[in-house]
Amino acid sequence: MILSLKYLINRVWFIYAQVFILDFSIIKFVKKTIQYPVKPLILKGIDYSRKMKEKIVTILLFMFFMLSAENINGQDESSNTIKITPIEHATAVLEWNNITIYIDPVGGKKAFENQKLPDLILITDIHGDHFSLETLQELDTKKAKIIVPQAVADKIPDEFTPQIDVLNNGDTKERYEIQVEAIPMYNLRNEALKFHKKGRGNGYVLNMGGKRLYFSGDTEDIPEMRALQNIDKAFVCMNLPYTMTVKSAADAVLEFEPKEIYPYHYRGRPNVSDVTKFKALINDGNSNIKVIQLDWYPQDDF
Ligand SMILES: [Zn+2]
Repeated sequence: MILSLKYLINRVWFIYAQVFILDFSIIKFVKKTIQYPVKPLILKGIDYSRKMKEKIVTILLFMFFMLSAENINGQDESSNTIKITPIEHATAVLEWNNITIYIDPVGGKKAFENQKLPDLILITDIHGDHFSLETLQELDTKKAKIIVPQAVADKIPDEFTPQIDVLNNGDTKERYEIQVEAIPMYNLRNEALKFHKKGRGNGYVLNMGGKRLYFSGDTEDIPEMRALQNIDKAFVCMNLPYTMTVKSAADAVLEFEPKEIYPYHYRGRPNVSDVTKFKALINDGNSNIKVIQLDWYPQDDF
């Protein structure tokens, strides 16, 4: 809201300045060259017909510039891109409309040294690869709103309280014209139930600039993921023993059919999930889904 108001003020000021400059030269032009087809309307020594003509020219010019401003606005919207920077594993930075979003910031200040300061921080769960209090304290997060599930809020000291929005599964919140939906994330396999209990952590769907982005957090191929609608960019985890196999991940993705799928969070212990196999499963199942492989592990060979 604040941003669009600022944009509007800038735009109006720009139009006003242009109209003022052109209006001034047009008035001169009108005075010098245009002959009146009708007898000038002069009352008490004031030439009203000339004044009216000048006003009409001004209004026409104003309308012309309003229209061209709308075109500029249209171009702004079409170049309304979302920049995605993988930091590591589950950690990413998004930039859109001059808003910088940190997803699961961990790795200390050093991990973000080339990034803009965050306006919005989303944290999915309490584990160290998603939540790091040291990182929140080291970074300059003063201006940031921090969206977390209750279990994470419980681990954050009071100094952050004014910045915190607690979202539990199913909740939504709008910040900076970004609608954030909290999606469940949990394990299904018996042997993995201890890792992520249903209701504790959040996956997130971000609605911004007409696009829907999904960050799965740590989860298996739960029905809530399979039921997602109209996802443009999906970031889905796949690693054992904590989340799921590439086969389960691919199966769920083929069901909710995002336009683009970004495999992330695929380092396990001791192995790394086979993202090439994941890509092949998606390509075989639905060639309309684009698999986008980013470098989520810049410190490692894979
Ligand atoms: Zn994790």
